[in-house]
Amino acid sequence: MPTVLTNGRFLRPASEYNTSNAEFAQCLAINEIHGTIQHIGRYEEAAIQELVVSGARVLDMEGRLVVPGLIDSHMHLLHTGESLDQLDLKNCKNLEEIRDSIRLHAKAHPDMPRLSCRSWFQASTNNEALASTLDDLDPRPIYITAFDVHSMWCNSAALAELQVADMEDPPGGKIHRDENGKPSGLLSESAALGLAMPFLSKQHTEEQKLQFIHDAFVAYIKSGYTGLVDMAMDDATFDILLKYRASRGGTLPIWMAMHWFIAPTRSAENNLKQVERAIEMRSNFNATDTPDCRIAGIKLMCDGVVDSCTASLVEPYSHTGQNEPTMWALDELRPVLKRANDAGLQIAIHAIGDAAIKLALDGLEAVNNPKGRHRIEHLETCAPEDVPRLGRLGITASVQPVHSDPFNLTAWPDLIGAKRCGHVFPYNGFAEHGAVVALGTDAPTASHEPLPNLYTATTRKSGHKPEMTEVTTPQYALSLAAATTAYTQGAAYSCFADAHVGTLEVGKLANLTVLDAAWEPTQLLQGRVVETWYRGRKLVTSS
Ligand SMILES: [Zn+2]
Repeated sequence: MPTVLTNGRFLRPASEYNTSNAEFAQCLAINEIHGTIQHIGRYEEAAIQELVVSGARVLDMEGRLVVPGLIDSHMHLLHTGESLDQLDLKNCKNLEEIRDSIRLHAKAHPDMPRLSCRSWFQASTNNEALASTLDDLDPRPIYITAFDVHSMWCNSAALAELQVADMEDPPGGKIHRDENGKPSGLLSESAALGLAMPFLSKQHTEEQKLQFIHDAFVAYIKSGYTGLVDMAMDDATFDILLKYRASRGGTLPIWMAMHWFIAPTRSAENNLKQVERAIEMRSNFNATDTPDCRIAGIKLMCDGVVDSCTASLVEPYSHTGQNEPTMWALDELRPVLKRANDAGLQIAIHAIGDAAIKLALDGLEAVNNPKGRHRIEHLETCAPEDVPRLGRLGITASVQPVHSDPFNLTAWPDLIGAKRCGHVFPYNGFAEHGAVVALGTDAPTASHEPLPNLYTATTRKSGHKPEMTEVTTPQYALSLAAATTAYTQGAAYSCFADAHVGTLEVGKLANLTVLDAAWEPTQLLQGRVVETWYRGRKLVTSS
């Protein structure tokens, strides 16, 4: 029996780029056998009336906004689930507030073997991260992940269990030390991402990890998502995901595409070995055989992040005069990209500093395959002369507006100077020059909630602290139509899912996000997601 959703505002695909106009249909019919959109238009139309007369279920959408099911084009599923279980320090303004929060958390959880915290803003402790300022709080190991997830602040018990005292810095990372050479508390980049985090992950039982995966799916579905692109898949995580999938009869609750993580090893052979593994995984998990759970491509990191001063810049950091090299040299990158491209894998490159972005562009230019839908992630400080290169090379701009929230950028004028701050996050610039823009959140480095993300994409103001008056490079704002398109159609394009999802069109899957929200950027924070539909079925209704 078909379902007719009427009296809604169903977003139609935008006819022109960054238009402030949006077109809506009033009515949408779902073919329940295939879970697809059977008709979209007006209730009075013959095609709809025929369905109604033949007994279709008719639901009144009460004037609500209905957009294509949202897709997070850059996220980390297991870490998001883990982070839901951690102490959130986002609202702590200084060291004392951080200490108070941890003290309370420790008291409330006497049975936890170690204390895990997240969303520490380095600026809130004047970029200081000393074990000694945490040691008196609790004898258990304490781990504090920076909000950008590229640094970890540890107490002495944590440093001891990580056994970093006699360890050399891993490639692309740093174990910070005091004047006596003793680890002082801060782990940067691969020392955090490749060492401490895998250690912490290993401490979780399989049962806990399955629960984290489940919690992350539940949170995402509640927030209106119907598709996810995981940006750092590896054997251990994929194994858990497959167990979770098997426990649900062989399908994930919503579809996922994944990028296999390739770590820089300084050995051409070992780098290529990782690509071969991704190719092998893709031969088993691909759009034909496992459309709900597939390997789309590879992911590489060319640098770190601005707040940890690990992003690679063309000109050094303003406050120190120092800089950070890129994690790959172009010569190392080339064979990896070529092998992946030749095998039909998509390439996704993390690049935040302007030098890393140039490197990523040079690497993908050498690959020279616009049809491959390769992508660059983040693109935060792209040099103005490089902005048009994405469109020219057919590269998708994969961006996370929630990272451009002025609340996150208070340290930036000091770190990179006013001149560079004047052209950061040039989303509209990429689009104007013909690049497809795909929106994501990079959860858990930021909240996965879509409305603050859309709010900052369109107003360039803080969704986290709406009372802030700062605006991030407003000339690069996306219109609400363009931002929503990037969250749906662009995100679908970014992983070759656009034949089936991403727009409300006849024949596509009936994946829908129903919002109780005004079509007005300044009012997005007052809106809420009320229903998520997946393949023609309602998954959740918010209370
Ligand atoms: Zn990420």
